[in-house]
Amino acid sequence: MNIAVIGAGPAGIEAASILASGHSVTIFEKESAPLANIRDKALLFPDFSSASDLADRLEAKLKNDNIVLHTATEVLNVQQDGGKWIVETAIGGRMTFDFVIMATGYKTFDARKKEELGYGIYKGVITSVELERMIKENSILNNMNETPKQIVFLQCVGSRDEKSGNNYCSKVCCVTAVKQAIEVKRQHPSTDVYVYYMDLRMWGEGFEEMYREAQETYGVNFVRGRISEASGTFDKRVQIKAEDTLLGTPLTMNCDLLVLMVGMCASEGTAGLGRKLGIDGMYGFVDSKSPHLDDNASKLPGLFLAGSCKRPMCISDTVNDARSAAVTLLRSL
Ligand SMILES: Cc1cc2nc3c(=O)[nH]c(=O)nc-3n(C[C@H](O)[C@H](O)[C@H](O)COP(=O)(O)OP(=O)(O)OC[C@H]3O[C@@H](n4cnc5c(N)ncnc54)[C@H](O)[C@@H]3O)c2cc1C
Ligand code: SF4
Repeated sequence: MNIAVIGAGPAGIEAASILASGHSVTIFEKESAPLANIRDKALLFPDFSSASDLADRLEAKLKNDNIVLHTATEVLNVQQDGGKWIVETAIGGRMTFDFVIMATGYKTFDARKKEELGYGIYKGVITSVELERMIKENSILNNMNETPKQIVFLQCVGSRDEKSGNNYCSKVCCVTAVKQAIEVKRQHPSTDVYVYYMDLRMWGEGFEEMYREAQETYGVNFVRGRISEASGTFDKRVQIKAEDTLLGTPLTMNCDLLVLMVGMCASEGTAGLGRKLGIDGMYGFVDSKSPHLDDNASKLPGLFLAGSCKRPMCISDTVNDARSAAVTLLRSL
């Protein structure tokens, strides 16, 4: 069989590597290299393992005679034609396949949409993706290229938020904030770290322990509260206006960096292809046939779904979901 996989993230690569034992698999990736959403990270929750090592291990799975990877090749359209699938790419290609696995993943919420938080206006307001890069490069610095004295994290930016149109929880950002807070303290023990949260969702194995470690070993301060506004100060810092919702008191506070924990949204590929195929669900993610027993099939025969194109997922859930997508496809033969 001839199988197309759209997206070379963890989901696409894992599904392809299973299907390639016996079938011919073509992966389409719009970026110039696979695994961009893994390679941009330093250490991964829950075990602080290296993101580059994981990416290398996943990429090694592509060394298979039955897998062809096309990078810098965005899929624009997927259409059914008789019993076959036609995949059309932005570089003008048109190829025919027996099956398609959609693994087009996520993008992070565009923090500019929350204008009141000052992202894109004040240099000291950054996203968790940018902080991750600083952590990776050992360069957590404020606007004046100095070690920051105070860093504030704000949870749920673009998630659980009616105003931004996303009522869902992004699942990974609470634990990412705890992980990043620990990494900041490891690199700069003298920096004061505050995490403003609505409620902390430490759902996974080892997450609660990390949360405790952040408080007890590293002295990270957790504040149950909401930040309503951020503005710049004369000394190039950031002033936040917040409310401590446990004490019911308004607060103002200055910090060097305000880190916005941006949520996971459907990528353009997920939302666009989902719409064209008529499998678009809530918030631009794609809908499976059933969330219980048929979560890897779509309502279109021959088109299967893997990973975070369906909803926010961590890597282990993504990889398991991709394996399940491959098995679902093989069982349909
Ligand atoms: C800030 C942050 C930190 C995180 N940290 C962790 C962590 O420490 N541990 C953990 O377990 N998880 C973490 N995650 C979650 C992790 O990134 C995801 O679980 C994982 O990347 C999902 O893999 P995926 O293959 O489903 O999607 P993606 O990684 O998004 O891969 C999808 C791929 O499809 C490609 N694509 C999209 N559209 C098209 C198209 N039309 N044509 C061709 N290619 C296309 C994309 O370029 C991309 O390469 C984090 C997420 C965020 C936002
Ligand atoms: S994981 Fe935490 S920060 Fe992210 S949306 Fe859910 S509650 Fe908010």
